[in-house]
Amino acid sequence: MAEEVPRYKRVLLKLSGEALMGRAAYGIDPALLSSLAQELASLKKFEIKTGIVIGGGNIFRGISGVAQGFDRVRADQMGMLATVLNAIALGEALGQHGVPTKILSAFEIKGVVEAFVRENALDYLEEGYFLVFAAGTGCPFFTTDTAAVLRALEIKAEVMLKATKVDGVYSSDPMKDPKAQKFDHLSYEEVLEKNLRVMDLTAISLARDNNLPLIVFSMQKKGNIIKAVCGEKVGTLVGGEPHD
Ligand code: UDP
Repeated sequence: MAEEVPRYKRVLLKLSGEALMGRAAYGIDPALLSSLAQELASLKKFEIKTGIVIGGGNIFRGISGVAQGFDRVRADQMGMLATVLNAIALGEALGQHGVPTKILSAFEIKGVVEAFVRENALDYLEEGYFLVFAAGTGCPFFTTDTAAVLRALEIKAEVMLKATKVDGVYSSDPMKDPKAQKFDHLSYEEVLEKNLRVMDLTAISLARDNNLPLIVFSMQKKGNIIKAVCGEKVGTLVGGEPHD
């Protein structure tokens, strides 16, 4: 088998909170977390400068809090704190797999997580640390997808890898519609015109305005992260140069 060669040397990976949940209905599945960290450790071998934005939906989503009668801002703060729990768990798991990691949070929790300061983040990447970005953008009414695009731009990532449960972007929900078609490549405009739910509008607009390519792929298949980083056809590419 030919040696895999990375196409990208600097990436931002977006993991939803659900990626840590496995088949459970809530929280973090330790076995899944460990196998995820092991897969991420292979990026280290390739010397890929890696930032990871982790979501919090496996623990708390602002919208669910609102449905329970909470104030939206307070509920979103809870959601952001949920991402901090996930970030600490992921940081620990990466450490156990030999990946030195810094957790950088949009808001500091003294003694627990360091505040995100862009210059420090860039220095840490040069020093070989993986970065796990916590607390989203630090602002309510946003999502961790928007935070992922933002951090990708801030760390000058060449691509954002959005790991999901589905193996790419489809014309309709493939779980419900057997005729759903998978796209190999889409422009940002097509995503917007066809109203494809790749990310929320704020996130996709920010990616479009700054020409940040996005690869949407499934985390359920082992090895997909490396494939995506090596430019192999995996999932759907939004923006950027189509795969060969
Ligand atoms: N959140 C927020 N601002 C942000 C990012 C996230 O208020 O910049 C809150 C929001 O309540 C959201 C929750 O954190 O529901 C968890 O994030 P998200 O839903 O994006 O997580 P994911 O779906 O990726 O697990």
